[in-house]
Amino acid sequence: MSPDFLPQLTGSFAQPALENPTVAMVEAAYKYHGLHFRYMNCEVSPENLEAAVNGAKAMGWTGFNCSIPHKVAVIKYLDGLGESAQLIGAVNTIVKQGEKWIGENTDGKGFVKALREVINPADKHITLFGAGAAARAVAVELALAGAKSLTIVNRSKERAQAVVELLNNNTAAKVNYHSWTKKYKIESKTDIVINATSIGLYPNVNEQLDIDFDSIELNMVVADGIHNPPKTHLIQTAETKGCKTVSGLQMLVNQGVIGIKYWTSIDVDPSVMHGELKKVLHIK
Ligand code: NDP
Repeated sequence: MSPDFLPQLTGSFAQPALENPTVAMVEAAYKYHGLHFRYMNCEVSPENLEAAVNGAKAMGWTGFNCSIPHKVAVIKYLDGLGESAQLIGAVNTIVKQGEKWIGENTDGKGFVKALREVINPADKHITLFGAGAAARAVAVELALAGAKSLTIVNRSKERAQAVVELLNNNTAAKVNYHSWTKKYKIESKTDIVINATSIGLYPNVNEQLDIDFDSIELNMVVADGIHNPPKTHLIQTAETKGCKTVSGLQMLVNQGVIGIKYWTSIDVDPSVMHGELKKVLHIK
């Protein structure tokens, strides 16, 4: 067999890109599975996004991720969107399908994949803190996965109302907004509690959600979108109570697994990616 020196190219366009560990976990999976693919972590400013996308197209890339601040802006350079990406209005994974470039959003899909390992969200009552980009992606996927109800608790009413209207108009889930001006008490009917705010994200690891922690009950599954640190104050509190938990690290790994499947058609081993992330982020 003649040698093949031409790997298939994938990567990420973001700003800042320096602290994004995705390259490490994706390349670990490529290597482990013997995939002739590479992943390039690229610092791309908003002014250069169009040129970067055209560059990827010109170089015959297989696909790429977009992170902050390009998740919405990149859509105008694509040929179409997947179902949930269309509802979310933002993409983080771009896939070349034939001659077309299609935008998908794996943030919420990765979260739901991680959640399913602990609980099926269908017919469940969910309390979701946050209404930003991650919360919107998570809420859309939970609604599409058949969640019975979602209570969106968020500081800014406008952002939350937009998510409530989007889901009530387009999915079967019953979605309502709850203001967050004082300590929030989680309703006892809640099956799944999710933090999709940035509260507690490194370096502000001591920041805590303004909730009545006594209202978290043993039968609730508690999840946090924050991957750094993976054991947030919320996750630690829930574990102390004996609740089942899902960390943001599991979400990050699973959205990577889904992205690699889009590009390579291979189901990679999440434990390889999890192990690499723990290594590069110095997590015990
Ligand atoms: P956004 O900036 O879009 O949204 C931030 C959210 O946090 C908003 O709902 C905001 O409320 C809320 N918030 C921030 N600070 C406070 C505060 N002090 N009090 C109350 N609410 C607050 O960010 P993203 O949605 O993109 O990201 C949110 C988190 O999700 C980040 O920590 C990010 O790391 C994580 N994430 C994890 C991923 C993973 O794979 N594990 C993937 C994507 C994101 P308001 O609307 O009132 O401003």
